[in-house]
Amino acid sequence: MADTNITAILDRQRAFYDAGHTRPVEFRLRQLRALERAMRGNERAILAALQADLRKSDVEGFATEVGVALEDLKHICRRLKGWARPRRVPAHWVQLPGSAWVYPEPYGTALIIGPWNFPFLLIVAPLIGAIAAGNCAVLKPSELAPATSSLLARLIADTFDPGHVTVIEGDAQVAQALLAQRFDYIFYTGGAAVGKLILQAAAQHLTPVTLELGGKSPAVIDADVDLETATRRIVWGKFTNAGQICIAPDYALVDRRMRDEFIALARAAIREFFGDDPQRSPDYGRIINERHFNRLRALLAHGSIAHGGETDAADRYIAPTLIDAPALDSPLMQEEIFGPVLPIVTYDTFDNAIRFLNARPRPLALYFFSRNVANQERILRETSSGGVCINDVMLHYANSHLPFGGVGASGMGKYHGRYSFDTFTHPKAVLKKPFWLDIRQRYMPYSDKLLRLLRRLV
Ligand code: NAD
Repeated sequence: MADTNITAILDRQRAFYDAGHTRPVEFRLRQLRALERAMRGNERAILAALQADLRKSDVEGFATEVGVALEDLKHICRRLKGWARPRRVPAHWVQLPGSAWVYPEPYGTALIIGPWNFPFLLIVAPLIGAIAAGNCAVLKPSELAPATSSLLARLIADTFDPGHVTVIEGDAQVAQALLAQRFDYIFYTGGAAVGKLILQAAAQHLTPVTLELGGKSPAVIDADVDLETATRRIVWGKFTNAGQICIAPDYALVDRRMRDEFIALARAAIREFFGDDPQRSPDYGRIINERHFNRLRALLAHGSIAHGGETDAADRYIAPTLIDAPALDSPLMQEEIFGPVLPIVTYDTFDNAIRFLNARPRPLALYFFSRNVANQERILRETSSGGVCINDVMLHYANSHLPFGGVGASGMGKYHGRYSFDTFTHPKAVLKKPFWLDIRQRYMPYSDKLLRLLRRLV
């Protein structure tokens, strides 16, 4: 897209914002309800686009994309009036007579850049926050999910004034042309390498940024565990969307004593979920494109295959695969896998497991399976990650009361529910004073007496 076009779109959004249209909370609620109607009315088309891009089943498409967005939208609409109101806070005695307030203020125009793995949700969920907080938004969906990208372009154009919300489709070049402009907020979801470019571009305009990145989220299995349930949950998390989920368990870190049984149970679970030939299962996804297919196929060479390992380039199919004892310095254990390959690493003592976790970049999610409450607490207090599930995987995502986001290498900033509103809001500090009291001692020339008084008061 030509830069002049982008400039024209941004000018239009600034004019819309400056005219104050987005300020009344009633306007924001109306827009959110229009978005809800658009999602409900176009559910079939959305699920078909997800099917076309990622071969997601309708259940998966609804449960993990449309449904999650609708839940968060409803949660936010119910509470928005309260959040958007100026809030009075205590005033310091120095400020008396007077009152102190926090005025929630939108940033202006937000740029939202999404990835391909949840191509609908990861554009719409941040958009809900941006609208709720009173911003305009330019959306750049991933070009690697073209059916969803064009569906979003149509749906947004049918629902919103382009001065308020608009979609610009395109690839990295288009994203770069957008980033050259001055936005008031940038919300990016995707890989860390591009995340760094986003941060660099934002620095030129001092634009605040949220980075929702990925990483290697471990699933740790303690000895005191219901191993069958733990394994089923890990296998479900790893092979949903063929492993192309930012919070999928990346690898299993298993107490050495549980290793053999874990592998046997994982094999059985894969067979139970996807049948003897997962390629024929309607519930098993495909790899997004040839580049990622080749990347994943190359990973299979870095360890001994305990299950699966079959590939079919023409179908971009990689079987649900277990890899036993990969070398820790191999790409399998150094890079985010983002595909249906589960390396299994063992540990001998729990102390060593914690050391192993802390020696690596902080993950987006950490999963710990154990009945041992003391060990659960140790994981919670002695390791750092964006979020944690105890005895499950991924489900912490679908709770609008919980903040979602990474820490360290897995990203910065949080969203969902109240956190989405806060992300797109500048909480403006306000002090209101009357004229009727004006103590002379606050002005120059200062006296030693004033210093003595101040010392006594703090
Ligand atoms: P990606 O980094 O390739 O692309 C994401 C977006 O960035 C796309 O819209 C793309 O057009 C744009 N982009 C690509 N190159 C760019 C460039 N040079 N300059 C500007 N923009 C550019 O990411 P992806 O492969 O689409 O997604 C996979 C990654 O995203 C994984 O690492 C995964 O963990 C992460 N992810 C994180 C979350 C989360 O919520 N934290 C969710 C989903 C995916």
